[in-house]
Amino acid sequence: MKKVSDEFYQSFMGGGSLISEQCSCGRTHFCNPQISQGDFEDGEYDNLLKLQKEDPENYIESEYGSVSYFYIGNETVIYDCPCGKDISYEKFFWNYRYSIMEFYRNKLEKIEREYWEFSDMVHSVDFKTDEKYTYEEFINKFREKKLKTILNES
Ligand SMILES: [Zn+2]
Repeated sequence: MKKVSDEFYQSFMGGGSLISEQCSCGRTHFCNPQISQGDFEDGEYDNLLKLQKEDPENYIESEYGSVSYFYIGNETVIYDCPCGKDISYEKFFWNYRYSIMEFYRNKLEKIEREYWEFSDMVHSVDFKTDEKYTYEEFINKFREKKLKTILNES
């Protein structure tokens, strides 16, 4: 079965369990304590093996030393789960890479514009001699202006 790329794995891997972890699809993945050295409770592994016998589709013994998971989009997705959600996420991110990069570029440009706007305002006031504003008043004025800008944008 196809697996996510190393690049995706390195970027999104959220953690791993030495015992068991449930994928958002409902499947439970568990380790073999001989391999993972996980701190299983008494009978826990035997119980998981029993559940696997009864329902092999939903109880999967991991072939790895731990059950790795991604935490994406508010869900826990297990690496290499038969549901293939990890692969779907990678495909989504890759297929929309140009839109995502454009989105980041637009966001960063906006942050950059705000930075320069703020910088211009800071440089337009001499805080030593200009008694018009305290620093807090200045910040509040800036926020008011920003709020107006944001309101005008929407
Ligand atoms: Zn799954």
